[in-house]
Amino acid sequence: MTSPCVYREARSLCPQCAREMPSRYEEDSDGILLRTVCDEHGEQVEPVERDPAFFKAGYELDYESPVAHLALVVTYRCNMSCRYCYSLSNAGFELPPDRPVERIADFMSKFRGNITLIGGEPTVRDDLGEIIEAGKRVGAARKISLATNGQKIANLSYLKSLRDRGLDFVFLSFNSPDYEPSPETYRRKLEALSNCRKLRIPVWLQRTIDEIGQLQSILQFIEEYRRLIFHVTIRAVKPFGVCRPRDIVFVSDMAKLLQGSRPAGKGTTPFNRYVDFGGRPIKLCSWVNDVARMDPLDSDYIISDDTWTTFHRGMRMDEVLLKSRTRIESPAR
Ligand code: SF4
Repeated sequence: MTSPCVYREARSLCPQCAREMPSRYEEDSDGILLRTVCDEHGEQVEPVERDPAFFKAGYELDYESPVAHLALVVTYRCNMSCRYCYSLSNAGFELPPDRPVERIADFMSKFRGNITLIGGEPTVRDDLGEIIEAGKRVGAARKISLATNGQKIANLSYLKSLRDRGLDFVFLSFNSPDYEPSPETYRRKLEALSNCRKLRIPVWLQRTIDEIGQLQSILQFIEEYRRLIFHVTIRAVKPFGVCRPRDIVFVSDMAKLLQGSRPAGKGTTPFNRYVDFGGRPIKLCSWVNDVARMDPLDSDYIISDDTWTTFHRGMRMDEVLLKSRTRIESPAR
């Protein structure tokens, strides 16, 4: 173990209180770390990247974050309980009530870009079709997508009803079978994919991993559904909220396994990189609490007190806000 040397000064969010604090990237024999010092919660150290050269190649680029996308929470509730969950649904917090459709329509009318309805799990709302329709009414040219765990869209007529209301595409969370909560969950996700194919609804596949071996099956899978899946994001989870990954996987680990990456160019941050697979982009990413570079989705986000901010910061602030309310019970994990 060598003593760390400082690579760059930065600003980060304290993982405890979400306030912006001074931090620095340090390099030692384990790679790159981000050390944050909160005046209330002390020092926090986050492993960032195993391969310093890989990290620096992304960090040295000018970083642009044009926000043209809104990740809009329509509910914090969920019909599943995944061990990789970073949302607040099963964290034991008293969740805020769902915002009414009119309020959501009001947010959508204030935003000009594309919108993804997220949760929790958006399909637990019986009025999801109305929300999609409202999104089109206040901005017909924009794309409305749905980030879902796929359980309810395993029902073909339900998915058709959302498409008929204006749903443009689906972000489908689709992990390796051993990372899903149960074989039945996985089976329903396959059914959801099949339904998207029947209804010609394009799919942006989202895979979450906490062990590098969970990547093995993805290329074969993308090949099998190549006409349906137009984009893939693979995210290595870090400790966030109640999520405690088995292993810390770095973006360079994924790039190596998938055999290389595109040259670090547009869309690259120190925490994401693209690889090509049969002409289709696969985005490899991870989350780090760097304020200037924290948001691999470049999305706006509206936290539970109706404040607008960026995606990752907003999730962190939601967590802090909700934690400060009544804690119901410890999550069973
Ligand atoms: S990861 Fe998604 S589907 Fe799973 S519990 Fe969390 S919000 Fe629900």
